[in-house]
Amino acid sequence: MPLLVMKFGGTSVADLDRIANAAEKVKREVDRGYDVIVIVSAMSGKTNELVGWVEQTSPLFDAREYDAVVSSGENVTAGLMALRLQEMDVPARSWQGWQVPLQTTSAHSSARIEDIPRANLDRKFAEGMKVAVVAGFQGVSPEGRITTLGRGGSDTTAVAFAAAFEAERCDIYTDVDGVYTTDPRIEDKARKLEKIAFEEMLELASLGAKVLQTRSVELAMRYKVRLRVLSSFEDNDDNAGTLVCAEEDIVESNVVAGVAYSRDEAKMTLISVADRPGIAAAIFGPLSEAGVNVDMIVQNISEEGRTDMTFSCPVDQVARAERAMNGARDKGEIQFSELVADTDVAKVSVVGIGMRSHAGVAARMFAALSQEGINIKVITTSEIKISVLIDRKYMELAVQALHDTFELDKAA
Ligand code: ADP
Ligand code: ASP
Ligand code: MG
Repeated sequence: MPLLVMKFGGTSVADLDRIANAAEKVKREVDRGYDVIVIVSAMSGKTNELVGWVEQTSPLFDAREYDAVVSSGENVTAGLMALRLQEMDVPARSWQGWQVPLQTTSAHSSARIEDIPRANLDRKFAEGMKVAVVAGFQGVSPEGRITTLGRGGSDTTAVAFAAAFEAERCDIYTDVDGVYTTDPRIEDKARKLEKIAFEEMLELASLGAKVLQTRSVELAMRYKVRLRVLSSFEDNDDNAGTLVCAEEDIVESNVVAGVAYSRDEAKMTLISVADRPGIAAAIFGPLSEAGVNVDMIVQNISEEGRTDMTFSCPVDQVARAERAMNGARDKGEIQFSELVADTDVAKVSVVGIGMRSHAGVAARMFAALSQEGINIKVITTSEIKISVLIDRKYMELAVQALHDTFELDKAA
């Protein structure tokens, strides 16, 4: 029997009516002859509420209990979706992560999927179950404890199931009708893409476009999963949404495929550190041990053996970074005169595989930002992306200016 994976995000299962609407879409695929694995998120807002409860109860929480609490939103929607389908005479059963079992590492709150043994679900499909509704975002560690896959992790659950069960396609149903040239909520002229290459989607996701979790794109690329993003609120035909696919399957594309942003960044500068061999290791070692996700790094010009070292990290990790740096100074591992945190910055990036063969993208990007009077604080580049750190208050303006400059509203 051909099999599809259909994933419904938080807004798509936000209340009972929306669950019923999603169930109709599932039934349509069952009627067309598919077995279906449905992956559900928690109702929108629920996971944030659960995270808040954990933080209020225990600011330095035990990550195992964090996972026990924040994974629970998906349990509710999985059960409700199975019940709704049963009411529609579709043989359906819900599964929590541990029941499948979806096996993960023990890295609580950001676990990675290790394996999805097929036997349990296969047996049920063979007995006549048409739909397995699986709670997204959660799994079980080798120690037998509940884990979660990081925020937005249901996308990754969906792609991992599609790979394990060799699904014909993995459809990600969400509150937009596809992947756009940038977030359509901050740029009216954003254009929906019919197709986007895995590499570009991977960069956009890791640079902040939350339409797909980064890890889900990595898995889809590795296991060659046909991945589609489409609307749960519209009637979709077979060509609806955006297909995330191999570069070779895209005939024409713009040099820049899209613009991504990440609002909650911080820029940290260590003033006057010794410019000596090993200094970068002495700084970034303790930051990594403290779990700080350092992104951009710049070492400033050295004067008389001293230099300033700047790095960026998520704004909610500033306290952790400060603790790690002050700790390293107390232990005599590094010396610096001051640690300055700028917590009002955002990162804006342009992404496109066309950059490999086209020069001048950086120059056009910097000119567009300069025309708007936006000061660039840090720059990083890779083969297919350029990112800048700017004042957060200019973030939307920057996204719009870059969208205009690269004429992303027009197809290639
Ligand atoms: P879900 O709850 O279905 O997982 P998310 O909120 O995680 O949905 O992701 C969908 C959101 O991603 C959209 O509402 C949109 O605001 C945002 N988004 C950011 N960048 C893009 C982009 N390039 N294309 C489409 N949506 C984007
Ligand atoms: N409910 C989880 C979150 O909000 C997982 C997901 O929706 O993908 O992050
Ligand atoms: Mg999401």
